[in-house]
Amino acid sequence: MELLKTLTQTPSVPGRESRIRAVLEDYLNASGCFDEIEIDSMGNLIAVRRARPEPDTVVSNPLRVMLAAHMDQIGFLVRHIDDNGYVRVNPVGGFDTRNLFARKVRVCTGEGDLPGVMNPSGRPIHIATDDEKKKVPVISDFFIDLGMEAEAVQSRVRIGDMVVLDGPFQEVGDYVASQCLDNRVGCWAQIRAIENLTYHNCDIYAAFTVQEEVGLRGAMPAAFGIEPHIGVACDTTLCCKTPGVPDEERVSVAGAGLALHVMDSSMISDIGLIEDFEAVAVKNNIKSQRAILPRGGQDGAMIQRSRGGVRTIALACPIKYIHTVTEMAHRDDLEAYHRLLTAWLTSL
Ligand SMILES: [Zn+2]
Repeated sequence: MELLKTLTQTPSVPGRESRIRAVLEDYLNASGCFDEIEIDSMGNLIAVRRARPEPDTVVSNPLRVMLAAHMDQIGFLVRHIDDNGYVRVNPVGGFDTRNLFARKVRVCTGEGDLPGVMNPSGRPIHIATDDEKKKVPVISDFFIDLGMEAEAVQSRVRIGDMVVLDGPFQEVGDYVASQCLDNRVGCWAQIRAIENLTYHNCDIYAAFTVQEEVGLRGAMPAAFGIEPHIGVACDTTLCCKTPGVPDEERVSVAGAGLALHVMDSSMISDIGLIEDFEAVAVKNNIKSQRAILPRGGQDGAMIQRSRGGVRTIALACPIKYIHTVTEMAHRDDLEAYHRLLTAWLTSL
């Protein structure tokens, strides 16, 4: 869990992935599990693990399998600093503004990080009118208070600096809870799956992609460069088996194993790959479940449609309270995630 914790506590929003990329690159280099590590022009980090067949076997023309986990998280970029030193932001990724009240944030500047607090403009509840109490603010209503004089803010903070919410990594019962488990879980699972491997006949390209949260922008050039035979998007999905949501809208069930995304609004997974993963899961006694997400997409859509088309499946860890600082992932699902991916890679 130390690696997952570190990944969740390293800020990196779309277009500002250098910090998480550096953490991942250091870890991947130190692991000794990869033959080549490269970074493409957009900033995707691609770690290659060549086929390692059993002794006395030769594999000619190994299958190229691309794994893809986006390493960005939802956040903000500084848009404006006003005359009083209050900072306005532009979102990069989809926030529910009801979750943004009274948040601690971190403004990441070229000269270090500044702690701040985020609130919507307007009166506190004691003096708010009845109408004001009912209003759900939009993102542009929120501002950040850095507790510093205006000149100090203006000299430290620049338009385009990254801002993230501050949320600790905690173990909560059978779960881990943190911000940005979407998608540090996918990054973590890809690494664990490859660390588990002994022999395998495919070449594995583990891509850690950029700018997924603003429209799957990094995965397509990564897939074009890799030219895989099979694509596997490693991400997270909704788990709405929680109060207030009808059971038919739950999408996935926490603790029921790795979710095989049958479809979402960005792609339909290759049904043959779904069945292959299910067969490997049964054979190895690993839990899996099928899930359909009516709205939402992930990197697999771009891999599937690159070049002449690629057989692609999307894998997902069920996450409760997704896109908040209290995202929760069940330990059994984390375990099933990397074990099933390892077993499938070994089966090729
Ligand atoms: Zn995601």
